[in-house]
Amino acid sequence: MTGRFEDMPDKRLRDIHENVLAGVRIGDEEYLYLEEKGGLYDLGFLANAIRERLHPEKQVTYVIDRNINYTDICISACKFCAFFKTPEEKGGYLLSFAELAAKIKETQELGGTQILLQGGLHPDQPLAYYEEMLRFMKKTGIHVHGFSPPEIHHFSLLSGLSLREVLERLIAAGLDSIPGGGAEILSDRVRQATAPRKCTADQWLEVMEEAHGQGLRTTATMMFGHIETVEERLEHLRRLRQLQDRTGGFTAFIPWPFQPDNTLLAGIEKTTAMGYLRMLALSRIYLDNFANVQASWVTQGPKIAQLSLFFGANDFGSTMIEENVVAAAGVSFRLTEQEIRRLVTDAGFTPCQRRMDYTLV
Ligand code: SF4
Repeated sequence: MTGRFEDMPDKRLRDIHENVLAGVRIGDEEYLYLEEKGGLYDLGFLANAIRERLHPEKQVTYVIDRNINYTDICISACKFCAFFKTPEEKGGYLLSFAELAAKIKETQELGGTQILLQGGLHPDQPLAYYEEMLRFMKKTGIHVHGFSPPEIHHFSLLSGLSLREVLERLIAAGLDSIPGGGAEILSDRVRQATAPRKCTADQWLEVMEEAHGQGLRTTATMMFGHIETVEERLEHLRRLRQLQDRTGGFTAFIPWPFQPDNTLLAGIEKTTAMGYLRMLALSRIYLDNFANVQASWVTQGPKIAQLSLFFGANDFGSTMIEENVVAAAGVSFRLTEQEIRRLVTDAGFTPCQRRMDYTLV
């Protein structure tokens, strides 16, 4: 303990600090109190102490991979998305298998171990098409981290099969793990207002619970800083923590702020770097059953990402040889593996390449 918080005049804040440092789980009331009263440095101090406890080896991990967005054609038309094309619009694409093969080859030549495979909710490709895609991709030996819960839910609606059956078939075809995309904020008021055609919060969690039950590891994300309230952010974290208590299937939590440009929600003020670091730290403090928290250099840039390592993050995410979704919202930070390693080293950590399951390469 430091003298700094022992001298805090606010006894409740002091008690929360003591509990967090002792490894005691915080409840919702404590989260809300920290959110309201905790200073940026207080939150950073606590989140950093948790990171040090969970990762005393001072390693910061990253993965070499590429996002492949197999299609931008999407029936969902989420208000926060600058990436999609409606099926009626001209210029939408669906990648050919030859294009997929070229992207995988390039990734493997750069030492990449996985593909983050995600796409829009295409109106009419059958489940067999995605099975074929997976079988084709798996011939290269690459790890396929693919199909976020809204896509799997969409495949289930289109095929008339249950989530269990869809997942069984995708896993049999080679799916290795599931990215936590499409969570945004797991609150139905927010989802209804921003993405009414996408799966509900319950359905998102149901896909993940079923996937964990079938032995797949997955990640969890949070896109914040649009129309959600503080309580809805907490609801999101609470629901993830509850599911993680039941299954233990999440490998990591990845929060990032909404990027409004070119979306239907353009005009909403962007989350500041301070707002991002606060949310990152609060997540690290609340999600005591998540081993790993990722920094978002893609939205924050290299300097704030470096600072994130002192606000609870222990992972630098992906080298993202290709990224399309955030770039469509006008944000285009780019980092090579060498730059990531240098940023991590300069912050006083040892950079380590990892796989999806956080084993080291
Ligand atoms: S966020 Fe995903 S589901 Fe929503 S419109 Fe964009 S591509 Fe479609």
